[in-house]
Amino acid sequence: MNTYEILRSARSIHLLALTTLFQAAAWGQLQITSFQGDGTLTWNDPGATGTNNYAVEWASSLNGNWSSWQDAAGRLSGLGASGSVAVPMFYRVVATDPTNAATQRYTYFQELPPLDPLTPLATNEMRIIFMGSMIPLPVRRAQAEMSVFVQVGWSNDPNDRVYGGRARDQFIFDCGAGCSANFAAAVVGFRRMDKVFINHLHGDHMSDLSHIYCFGPAADRKTPLYVWGSKPSGVENPASPGTFYDDGTSNFCACLRQALRWHSESFSFQSTCYSNYVPPTKEQWGLPHDPVPVCGDSPYDAYAMVPIELDFEKIGGVAYDNAATEAKVTHYPVIHCRKGSMGYKLEWTTPEGKTLSMIYSSDTKPETNSIAQASNNGNGVDVFIHEMVVPPAVWAYKNMGLSAAPVEGDALYPEYVQTVQGLTFVQNSSHTPQGAFGYLLSQIEPKPRLTVATHFPVADDTVASAFVSVTNHCPTVQMGRDLVWSFDLMALRVFPDRIEQRRLAVSDYSFNPPVQLDGGTCPPKYNDGNGSGNPYAQIDTSASISPTNTDGSVNYRIDGY
Ligand SMILES: [Zn+2]
Ligand SMILES: [Zn+2]
Repeated sequence: MNTYEILRSARSIHLLALTTLFQAAAWGQLQITSFQGDGTLTWNDPGATGTNNYAVEWASSLNGNWSSWQDAAGRLSGLGASGSVAVPMFYRVVATDPTNAATQRYTYFQELPPLDPLTPLATNEMRIIFMGSMIPLPVRRAQAEMSVFVQVGWSNDPNDRVYGGRARDQFIFDCGAGCSANFAAAVVGFRRMDKVFINHLHGDHMSDLSHIYCFGPAADRKTPLYVWGSKPSGVENPASPGTFYDDGTSNFCACLRQALRWHSESFSFQSTCYSNYVPPTKEQWGLPHDPVPVCGDSPYDAYAMVPIELDFEKIGGVAYDNAATEAKVTHYPVIHCRKGSMGYKLEWTTPEGKTLSMIYSSDTKPETNSIAQASNNGNGVDVFIHEMVVPPAVWAYKNMGLSAAPVEGDALYPEYVQTVQGLTFVQNSSHTPQGAFGYLLSQIEPKPRLTVATHFPVADDTVASAFVSVTNHCPTVQMGRDLVWSFDLMALRVFPDRIEQRRLAVSDYSFNPPVQLDGGTCPPKYNDGNGSGNPYAQIDTSASISPTNTDGSVNYRIDGY
C-alpha cells in the first residue's frame, strides 16, 4: 500500500480539492468523478497498470489521526475501480497495491525530449543541469546527492575540439556524493568545474568535492579550485561553554587540502599549472575578500584550494560579480540544522541586456528570505529551485523497507512511530514539507517562471503525492508548465522567452572528455631535471617485476597487451 499523502481540505474549498485531484489523475491515478457539497465523493480508478486500487482515509480535525487503511477499507463501499463515500473535513488518498511499480520510475522525466549533452548553449541561454537531486540516505543509483551545474552564454571556439566553444561562465552549486558520475556522463570536463558554491557543509552537499579536487589537475583543470561557502557558524559548543569550532569554509578547505596531500603529491609527476595563468583578483571576480589558497599553496597551482568565505547572515551579500562574464551570485541565509546555511541567487545578463535569474535554496525549513528573494522586488525570477521532503510517515516506512505504514498492533508499529517522531524533528528543524512548499510558492509574487522541487526522492508515487500537497495551496499550478521535480541529468534551457526541459541523453559507460589545455604548462613538481615528469620519483621499485629480464627474456609486453 502506497500512501498518497494528500489533502487538507475543508468543505468550503471542495472545488479546489476537486481541481487538484483531477490534475493528479494525469498520472493514471485515482480520479475523483464527483464531489458534492455534503462531502460525498465518487471516484474512478483508471488503473494504468491494471492493478492500482485506491481508497480515501480521513481525519476529523486538523491534527486528528488519519483513520487506518484497514478501517478505511472496511468502511468504504465499492472500494476498487469506482465507488462513493462521504468524507469528513480532511482526507487523503491511499493506494492498496504493495507491488505498485510507481515507486520504481519517474515517468515525467523519462518522457522529456532528449538533449545531446554536447549541444552548444545559445548565446542568450542559461542552462541548468541537475547532477544530483536526492536527499541523503541513501545515495540512489537513480539520484546522486545534490549538485546543480549552471552555465551561461556561449562563445564559439573552433580550436576547442570537445565543445567547439565554451560557456561564458559556469558554476557548480553543491557537489554531493555520487554527482561526479553525472558530470562525466554529461561530458563535463574538469576544466569546466573550477567554481564550486557550497550551500552548507553537510556531506550530501560537498562530499564529491574531494573527487573534483583530486582529479581536476590530472585532467585539464590546471588552475586552482575556488570554493565558496559560509564563514564559521559562531554556534557555541555546549559541551565546553565559551568555545567555538572553526566550522567555516576556509578551515574546511584547509583540512581537506591537508587530508588529500598523499593524493596531490602522488599525481604531481604531471604538470599542475599553466605557465601563463593569471589568477583572478578580488576586483575582477567581485569577491568579498582576496582569493588566497589555503595551506600556503601557490595561487597558480591546480592543487591550490581557494576558499571564498561568505558572511552567511547577509541578505543579498555578493559572492561573485564578474563584469567580464556579466554573471553575479548573491547569497542569503536559510534555516537548516545549524547556522551558516545559505541560498544562492545567480543573475546573468544576456548579450541583449535581458537578465536571467536562478535561485537555489538548498536545504532549508520554510522561511521568509526565499520568498523575498524569489519575489525579487516584484520582478520575480526565472527558475526557483527549492528543497522539499516527503512526509515523515512516508519517509519512515520507506526507510524501514516497507511499502506502507504499519498499523497499530503490527510488530513494527512501535519502531515506526519512533522513526516518524525522529523524522518529524528533522523535518521541522531543517526541511520543507510538501504542503509548506505549496504555501511558500503561494506567497511568491510574481510566481517564478518555473519552480523546481529538489533534494527529493522522486518516483511517480512520491511526486504525485507532493503535487497534490502543493496544489492544495496553489490550485492553478500545473505540473510541467509551472512546477517540476528535479531528477539527475534533467536539463533546463532558460531563454528570455521560454524555458525548455530536457533529459540529457548520456552514456552510462562514459570516459572523461578529451583533455584540452589552454596554454603551455609548467614543469611537474616531481621531474627528471629536464622539465619532464618523473613518475618513479616517489616509489620504491626494488620489488617490481620488469617487462624484461637482464638476460633479455620477456615477462610481459610493455604495450599492455
Ligand atoms: Zn543539509
Ligand atoms: Zn541535504
